[in-house]
Amino acid sequence: MSDGLPVPGDSSADILRRLAGRWRETPAGCWEWTGYVNPQGYGCLIIKGRSIRAHRAAYVAANGQITDGRQVNHHCDNRRCVNPSHLYLGTQSQNIRDAISRNRLYVPDGGRGSSHSQAALTAEQANDIARLYATGKYTQADLGARFGICQARVSQIVRGASGYDVEVVTRAGRGRPGLTLVGAA
Ligand SMILES: [Zn+2]
Repeated sequence: MSDGLPVPGDSSADILRRLAGRWRETPAGCWEWTGYVNPQGYGCLIIKGRSIRAHRAAYVAANGQITDGRQVNHHCDNRRCVNPSHLYLGTQSQNIRDAISRNRLYVPDGGRGSSHSQAALTAEQANDIARLYATGKYTQADLGARFGICQARVSQIVRGASGYDVEVVTRAGRGRPGLTLVGAA
């Protein structure tokens, strides 16, 4: 999959508009994402139906295309940070080396999902998510953590808007638990 602009056809100005007003500057100069943060600690937003990591979107808006196979790392180790001057293009191993040198190695929880991209789901997993959500026992955030995806992605799946062929089951009895859809396209 090509991984340049978050969505082909989105210009830098489009991306900046989506990011505007959704971060807060910290005393350290980080621009901390105030929207949804996934279980791995990265800010996420939805652009045209795809869940995108906010720091990647910020990097692309500031610098243009990301070369295939490379990831956007944080100088500041603050995964919620979307300040382009704190972001640099690197590799996973470089990211780990840098984190070790700063004594801040992040260990992904149980190895579920991937620390730098959203886990791809099988249709069966998507259906499991829809079924589990319909039981009312799990929040979208719970399911996102369990399957290694953003809450926003879980929301798409349970609404039948994910592209997966899932049977949408109405969740009975309770309101939707604290769902805030960020940047819905
Ligand atoms: Zn920062």
